[in-house]
Amino acid sequence: MSTITPDILRQWRHEFHRHPETAFEEQRTSARIAEILDARGIEMVTGLGGGTGVVAWVDGCRGSGSAIGLRADIDALDVTEANAFAHASRTPGKMHACGHDGHTTMLLGAAWALADNPDFAGRVYFIFQPAEENEGGGRVMVEEGLFERFPMEAVYGVHNWPGLAVGEAAVHETAVMAAFDVFTVKLSGYGCHAAMPHLGKDVVLAACQLVSQLQGIVSRETPAHQTAVLSVTQFHAGDAYNVMPETVELCGTVRCFDPELRHYIEARFRQAIASLATFHGLEASIDYQSRYPATFNTPAHANRCAEVLEAMPDIRQVHRDMPPSMASEDFAFMLQQCPGAYIWLGNGKDSAALHNPHYDFNDELTPLGVAYWTTLVRTLLG
Ligand SMILES: [Zn+2]
Ligand SMILES: [Zn+2]
Repeated sequence: MSTITPDILRQWRHEFHRHPETAFEEQRTSARIAEILDARGIEMVTGLGGGTGVVAWVDGCRGSGSAIGLRADIDALDVTEANAFAHASRTPGKMHACGHDGHTTMLLGAAWALADNPDFAGRVYFIFQPAEENEGGGRVMVEEGLFERFPMEAVYGVHNWPGLAVGEAAVHETAVMAAFDVFTVKLSGYGCHAAMPHLGKDVVLAACQLVSQLQGIVSRETPAHQTAVLSVTQFHAGDAYNVMPETVELCGTVRCFDPELRHYIEARFRQAIASLATFHGLEASIDYQSRYPATFNTPAHANRCAEVLEAMPDIRQVHRDMPPSMASEDFAFMLQQCPGAYIWLGNGKDSAALHNPHYDFNDELTPLGVAYWTTLVRTLLG
């Protein structure tokens, strides 16, 4: 018998939701995770991944065997919550708008359920990872020696997915999430009176040309069967009607899957700016950061996950043909080092989108997520 109930899961989830913490500052969250694991006598190491990561483990009662890892992200976002329910964020400007409160709860539930009933062989590691959003806590854990310190033969991840009903899942055989790069470009010219632009060097005109030129890298140079997105998301210049500004700053993001295409886009991006700066007589500085690689499942592991889901009574449909998302995921760093798979579980057809201020993780999904984790463990380590 498991001591875990939907009510307990709901309480845990609501508590995490009330107290969102962002990248590498998940002190309270991390302490609560350790407290919940400790209450069930589960062994763990804390202080990982820059300080707030936790790795716990449960050994099966059927003897030794291989080890697998299950991972949850624990961080929140810099979003002001628009929900008014009792478990809404109590920290102004921060919110669990991506459902990592739910992921954390599902993994804690699985740890308890497997500790209650460890009818498998080998070991399960429960990886609670900080800073999934933007800051790459997954990379930090890998660089810190996650797989050397806790050797495992495969690692698995889950993300809730708005738009899919609870009871639906999606499994991708290879690419699931895109690579994620960000850029800041600063063009410096020569400011002057707006009535006499010939006396200056116009950074606004140059920046406008740059925005359209950059779109050509995706629309004209990327093969039509490949996928890439380049979005300029910030454009800052000037503060008067009659002054040509001296500088302009553009920021944005690039997403794609193919590593060669990723390098090509960056190279062409740099060329476009260099030649534009020469033509207009401007100084250009480029800060181009490769943040996350694309997330690729290992086909064999993805197929096992799909089989497990298809055999679960509460899973009505497993989508095998959904296109990958152009959003990104730092679980990619773990999958670069260790085979495994990252799947989506439906958060409800009417769920607000991820990162939306009205979003909330669906409590109906939590027991299903626990069941997925425990079924996966019992199947793989049976
Ligand atoms: Zn997110
Ligand atoms: Zn997320």
